[in-house]
Amino acid sequence: MTPKQGVSGKPPYDDNNIFAKILRGDIPCRKVYEDEFALAFHDINPQAPHHILVIPKGRYVAFADFAATAPEAEITGFIRAIGHVAHMLGFEDTGYRLLANMGPDSHQEVPHLHVHLFAGRPLGPMLV
Ligand code: C5P
Repeated sequence: MTPKQGVSGKPPYDDNNIFAKILRGDIPCRKVYEDEFALAFHDINPQAPHHILVIPKGRYVAFADFAATAPEAEITGFIRAIGHVAHMLGFEDTGYRLLANMGPDSHQEVPHLHVHLFAGRPLGPMLV
């Protein structure tokens, strides 16, 4: 099966995407956490009482590309940042959901890898 374009391989990175602009400080965000490898901020259109986006600082569009080509320190740093944000915001007791959209079928709007973190209410069964 031929993978659809934009989901696998190394999709071209657009330095003008909105998260690249946030990382450069060209546009503001409501930051909750930042370290060497990742930035976390409130989604501007929250779908839950807490809706945080965690993004790696590297120029990656697709998870498969990130997982296959990013230096291990970047992968570890990104995963640790997600866990740190969930812990720091106190989501572990009540629970939370991680979600990442990848490519056209998932309706990925912003072509910079990101993980959504939802919390603050019962989230119901996962719908696809
Ligand atoms: O996974 P997907 O690419 O669809 O999600 C992009 C997310 O980025 C949306 O939830 C949208 O509300 C959010 N966004 C944001 N700040 C912006 C532009 C988009 O939080 N300036």
